[in-house]
Amino acid sequence: LLEMNAALVELSMTDKLTGLKNRRFFQEQLEQHFNRFHETAEPFSLCILDIDHFKKVNDTYGHQVGDDVLVQLAQILQIQVRLEDIIARYGGEEFIILLPETEIHVAKEIGEKIRHTVEQDGWPTGRLTISMGIATVTSEDTETTLIKKADEALYGSKEHGRNKVTHFHELK
Ligand code: GH3
Ligand code: MG
Ligand code: MG
Repeated sequence: LLEMNAALVELSMTDKLTGLKNRRFFQEQLEQHFNRFHETAEPFSLCILDIDHFKKVNDTYGHQVGDDVLVQLAQILQIQVRLEDIIARYGGEEFIILLPETEIHVAKEIGEKIRHTVEQDGWPTGRLTISMGIATVTSEDTETTLIKKADEALYGSKEHGRNKVTHFHELK
């Protein structure tokens, strides 16, 4: 019974297609990191990334290839991030990463490394790129505002031509 229970708990926090953590698990982790931040003031950053023109992948190659691309991207993310980082599938073709103890500049470097790896990888679609938005926690932030900032930065990357990494502090 204990084993079955553990398996169910694992299942309830996992995204079925990619094997990454799901959004619910991520929200819990984010809450914990906010609690810790209020105690220790140790900063952390959030990256939200979204595949560029993913609808076209589905339209051109079919939904199965679209799914394969999502799995391949999940594998890249898992290889690229550090052991302590938390990755989740946030929505259809959106992923989110929590970078503990990570300030603006290192977060941007990690983001750039991921963006570059995706651009260089071999894809069933030929070429594939992602856009990313990053935000680093401040004392004024809540879970909602921090995610909103990362989202706004992602929107900035999309607006400025895609295949880009933008940190919220760079937005004007
Ligand atoms: P943009 O560069 O602005 O992000 O353009 P986009 O085409 O990526 O954005 P849009 O939001 O229009 O399309 C997202 C697509 O992702 C639409 C949806 O069908 C597809 N999608 C979402 N979840 C899945 C999934 O699990 N599998 C597959 N194959 N496609 C998915
Ligand atoms: Mg999207
Ligand atoms: Mg997209």
